[in-house]
Amino acid sequence: MFQEIRDIIERGEKFLITAHIDPDGDATGSTFSLYWVLDSLGKQPCIYLRDPVPYMYEFLPKPPRVAHGEIPEDRYDAVFALDCGNLFRVGNGYEKLKDMGPVINIDHHTTNEPFGIVNIIDANASSVAEILYGLYKTMQVTMTYDMAINIYTAIFTDTGSFRYSNTNSQAFLICEEMTRCGVAPSYVAQMVHENHPKERFLLLGLVLATLETLKNDTIAMAMVTQEMFRRTNTSKEHTEGFVESVREIRGVDVAILLREITGSLYKISMRSKGNTDVAGICNLFGGGGHRNAAGCTIDGTIGEVKDRLKEAFKIE
Ligand code: AMP
Ligand code: MN
Ligand code: MN
Repeated sequence: MFQEIRDIIERGEKFLITAHIDPDGDATGSTFSLYWVLDSLGKQPCIYLRDPVPYMYEFLPKPPRVAHGEIPEDRYDAVFALDCGNLFRVGNGYEKLKDMGPVINIDHHTTNEPFGIVNIIDANASSVAEILYGLYKTMQVTMTYDMAINIYTAIFTDTGSFRYSNTNSQAFLICEEMTRCGVAPSYVAQMVHENHPKERFLLLGLVLATLETLKNDTIAMAMVTQEMFRRTNTSKEHTEGFVESVREIRGVDVAILLREITGSLYKISMRSKGNTDVAGICNLFGGGGHRNAAGCTIDGTIGEVKDRLKEAFKIE
């Protein structure tokens, strides 16, 4: 399965590594780990993430060549697209990627289009980092601390700190190995969960005040507006983890966070427990993800967006 990628890496020299907009722990940790692996092989990797790395992942050993904003246009021996169910998830300018080099798609979303020349899609993998770890193993890479902490953090965050149904035995086995490379689980947990600025909690207070439940308290919905960001001096990176908090409510099957992008465009994040497939619901709106964690954007005023969501969940 990895032979083609190994050949491309062996033959090539310059590589672009990219992942989805609003990078999470997997997008960040996976791109960073692949950078360090290619760097250790004497290659010239470069990372493109449209959006800045959120503050909670700033502790990760960051490679020197990480571009944000505009895609660094060049010719590459391969373009790695990680954790992207669809190439448009890379952000504006994604159409140009295919002209910059052969695209290698490595992903674990249930809604993935095989947009690459090579496509490694494993919906049973906890994270892209888990798939990459398998690749590194077959390449006999010497695992360094910088690689290990990026891999550990990607798995730790994509499994919701080993809580979600994608927490498989492979996730534990890899993370155990990473601890033997020097990763301290308590340090990663502290950096990810206990290192928020005070402003984030002021924002969370405002967001939780908007909490409403539907369908006999089985669906919980909360909202974050631009006005709340202004009032608390925060931005979208401070909302990471909010939808997971709403999911903690007893009896709630689906948690929904609506984030205002503009007055007529909302980013929707959904998390579910058990069998409710939120990727399927988000797919109705052109988004996607995993069965228990998915996202999309919906056009319209807040009232229209809520109505469309209620319709999707068949709520009168
Ligand atoms: P988020 O709610 O943005 O944290 O995303 C939850 C999951 O759904 C992640 O695995 C995302 O990669 C995926 N996802 C979010 N938004 C979209 C989208 N518009 N299209 C496809 N997948 C998405
Ligand atoms: Mn992701
Ligand atoms: Mn992921």
